Amino acid sequence: MLRTHVLVIGGGPAGSTAARFLADSGIDTVLLERDLSYIKPCGGGMPSIALHEFSIPEDIVKKKIKKIRIVSPSGKEVEVELKGGHLCITGRGTFDAKLREIAKNSGTSVVEAEFIRFEEIGGKIISTARRGSTNEEIKIKSDYVIASDGITFRAGSSIGHTKPDCLSTISAHITSDDFDACEFWFGSGHASQFYSWLFPSSGYSSIGTGSANPRELTALLDAFIRRRFGIPLKDFAAENFLGRNLINKPRAFKIPQWSGTLFNINNILFAGDAAGAVMPITYEGIYYAMKSGEFAARAIAEGKPALYKKLWNSRFRNRFLLMSKIRNYLFKSDSNIEKFVALHKRPEVQEIAMRLWLKKETGSSALISYIKFFKHLL
Ligand SMILES: Cc1cc2nc3c(=O)[nH]c(=O)nc-3n(C[C@H](O)[C@H](O)[C@H](O)COP(=O)(O)OP(=O)(O)OC[C@H]3O[C@@H](n4cnc5c(N)ncnc54)[C@H](O)[C@@H]3O)c2cc1C
Repeated sequence: MLRTHVLVIGGGPAGSTAARFLADSGIDTVLLERDLSYIKPCGGGMPSIALHEFSIPEDIVKKKIKKIRIVSPSGKEVEVELKGGHLCITGRGTFDAKLREIAKNSGTSVVEAEFIRFEEIGGKIISTARRGSTNEEIKIKSDYVIASDGITFRAGSSIGHTKPDCLSTISAHITSDDFDACEFWFGSGHASQFYSWLFPSSGYSSIGTGSANPRELTALLDAFIRRRFGIPLKDFAAENFLGRNLINKPRAFKIPQWSGTLFNINNILFAGDAAGAVMPITYEGIYYAMKSGEFAARAIAEGKPALYKKLWNSRFRNRFLLMSKIRNYLFKSDSNIEKFVALHKRPEVQEIAMRLWLKKETGSSALISYIKFFKHLL
């Protein structure tokens, strides 16, 4: 039986960051990752401040983006020059490996094995995991667990908790990378409760879309490709486009919807996607996964698991609530999206949005200004 103070399940951004902060505080930590070569389907985009805040070396950045383009359902475009920061596009394989390396260098033991179930959760927690290479079962006894196994939610399910509500996405890599902006395309014809995106990287670009209904994903992606590349329906054969332009086959994957209800159940703390920590509307999850990992680690370091919820709520609750409200308004109709996009043409709205989104400004002043702009819409 392995013994440790904290078992972290899942070596994505949430788990690796939690493990790193725990190990930095001198806490004995085991990080369990089922597949060290796993590459999560993800645009890999994050504001530059995310790297600076967590001292992550910039050499993992594949492309720096200085402009975003938002396109409304009727085709009205808003271009926003990113000032005071930029968007970093990373490859998730390299990014996640770097975070695990940092955690390991801080003193975390990284074990490649899949969490299977909890055997005991009263007092000490005993978990069972299986090494993929040998099928060997291992038991790990810990005082705390951080469940950061993403949307698979195996640890949560193992104690009977319901998975966060999810939307579905479909995404692929296309061969061209010579686009000058990250693009967010809105319109119910190709994205439902979501936007469609094109994020240029190096050697490829990520394209994708989302919906509450997984069955319509392929049709929505086809519709987005037709719209983005101006291909008339009569000339469009998905196989031809995909054959010529796709690097990989489109992959479907879930993304959680934030509810702000799952933090800890006794000494089991939930972080990242497993806690639904994804910003409504932008569906940005990497930064918030890392922050939730950091806060969960701080709470454990102080021996107060309930502190995790306090830290999260005092920093992020209000902005997640606001964005949920705006999302509910936004995705009611394409005409609401038109108003939302039109509002972002105004330089003063762009400036506030950048303070909140790109610079992750703390405090309430930017948030209050943003609320004022949206008050008459909501
Ligand atoms: C298509 C798509 C595009 C996205 N694009 C962006 C973007 O551009 N920018 C952004 O900020 N966010 C984006 N997101 C969201 C972002 O990917 C997630 O919010 C983020 O990865 C959450 O990190 P995490 O560590 O919580 O979970 P994950 O990244 O999912 O990591 C969980 C880890 O746990 C491991 N694991 C799972 N089960 C077990 C188990 N039983 N035992 C051991 N290990 C296990 C997995 O292998 C994985 O490594 C996107 C999401 C999708 C679906």
